[in-house]
Amino acid sequence: MLRIDPGPSRKPADCVRPQTGTVPDIETTYAGALSERVVQAEAQRAALVAAIEETRSARRLMVADDEHDPDGSTASLDQARDVALLEQTDRTLSELAEAQQRLASGTYGICEVCGRPIPPARMLARPETRRCVVCAAAQVDRRGRRS
Ligand SMILES: [Zn+2]
Repeated sequence: MLRIDPGPSRKPADCVRPQTGTVPDIETTYAGALSERVVQAEAQRAALVAAIEETRSARRLMVADDEHDPDGSTASLDQARDVALLEQTDRTLSELAEAQQRLASGTYGICEVCGRPIPPARMLARPETRRCVVCAAAQVDRRGRRS
């Protein structure tokens, strides 16, 4: 025989969701965004290295064929652009690695200049950022150019 007990003695504690902490899973939110960016940057880096190598081989062939090939200047412009992009991608990769370290050490999302929290919208748009919008803008002004 089944005995159905409505259970008036059910503990109210069961209904309370346990609090895991005051910070709402900042690591889960940004760790995903960071590793996504690392994957993107590494793919871009590989593509650039391949493109640079391809341009180099093409130039070697062209130089061997005709030293005064008019396409030579276009190829070197392409290469200069790719090399600049590669340097930028390398910087992004090291910034991302630093951001992952900050995430691990608990200083992630804090502006390195003013010490205020960086707004989540900015962090998600550029998870490797180290400065809040105000301080980043101030730095651009000091340099006298926009980036
Ligand atoms: Zn700041």
